Amino acid sequence: MTGKLDGKVAIVTGASSGIGEATALALAAEGAAVVLAARRGDRLNALAEKIATTGGKALPIITDVTDEAQVQNLVDKTKTEFGRIDILINNAGIAVIGAIDGGNTSEWKEMINLNLLGLLYVTHAVLPILKAQGAGHIVNISSVAGRTARVGVGVYNATKWGVNGFSESLRQEVCKQNIRVTVIEPGLVNTEISDHITDPVFKQQSEARRRSVTPLESEDIAAAIAYAVTQPSRVNVNEILIRPTLQE
Ligand code: NDP
Repeated sequence: MTGKLDGKVAIVTGASSGIGEATALALAAEGAAVVLAARRGDRLNALAEKIATTGGKALPIITDVTDEAQVQNLVDKTKTEFGRIDILINNAGIAVIGAIDGGNTSEWKEMINLNLLGLLYVTHAVLPILKAQGAGHIVNISSVAGRTARVGVGVYNATKWGVNGFSESLRQEVCKQNIRVTVIEPGLVNTEISDHITDPVFKQQSEARRRSVTPLESEDIAAAIAYAVTQPSRVNVNEILIRPTLQE
């Protein structure tokens, strides 16, 4: 098997389902060794086996990215196993939707810890390795919700707006070290993401909205990510906004 990512090593967070799983498969199909990070080990193991059966290389590492020690373990184990890290896909995230007034602040903390701090921790742990190598690529999964605000999405909007601001600042900080930073902004994608919404009214609205637009599939986003990370090293695809055709 020869691919555009032969010899490269990629960490994918949130690889146990949805966009992360599809991205791990897409990068492995291009020849990258993929490190699969999330909390559900059974899912990660099944995905690693699937990749192995097609001749790819995958290493599952159970990781809660909101825990800095577990993040450091993820990066250390990747370096020990593969000797390098070329690509980081910061994908793990949740979308807890609901009104701000009367909102559940524990859920807000959980989402901010994951969508923002988790992404920051993994970036922080990987950066010294990319710098020492003199090259690397960090792909941050934001959202259309990082660019357009809607009622009921306020705290999720805050996390994804944060991801966009952080990513552009990081891009400017590290571009001279030959490190690329890409932001991916999906619209509605058919994944497990709305399973975590606890407000019944917003959950129903969210699911109805998703169904009404013929949502994207995870593979559509994985293809955009694969495009960004397989460009020649002089090309930094800064941002990709990708909506279902029927989504306003
Ligand atoms: P899924 O719910 O299918 O996937 C979320 C992933 O995040 C799972 O693999 C989950 O694994 C992982 N995860 C959750 N908590 C943690 C944690 N603490 N540590 C490590 N991993 C964790 O949803 P999607 O694939 O849709 O979401 C992926 C990304 O795409 C998110 O950042 C989301 O905001 C973004 N996005 C999604 C859109 C959509 O419509 N689906 C639209 C725009 C953006 P586990 O539970 O095993 O830890």
